Amino acid sequence: MRCHRVGQKRTACCTVVIQMGRRRRKVIKRVTKRIPTLFTCPSCGNKSIKINLDRDHNEATVRCGNCGINAKLSTSRLTEQVDAYGLFIDEYYKKQK
Ligand SMILES: [Zn+2]
Repeated sequence: MRCHRVGQKRTACCTVVIQMGRRRRKVIKRVTKRIPTLFTCPSCGNKSIKINLDRDHNEATVRCGNCGINAKLSTSRLTEQVDAYGLFIDEYYKKQK
């Protein structure tokens, strides 16, 4: 089993193994990076914000699939989607003032 020690936490797949031992069927959400993360839109309130990180250009493209609000942000190599989202929210509320 490769999954046993990822950082300090017990991973989802380990939990599945434990559950199977008790013959319980429990659906456990597994977080994978490939699934696009959706964030709440500050403009329309829907969870329809998608963030694309462009690591080559140190840019993040933020776009709402519902109302179409979008922004480009400059990021660093360490910026994650959630960080870019935070920046976007900051920018958004700055513009509101
Ligand atoms: Zn929106």
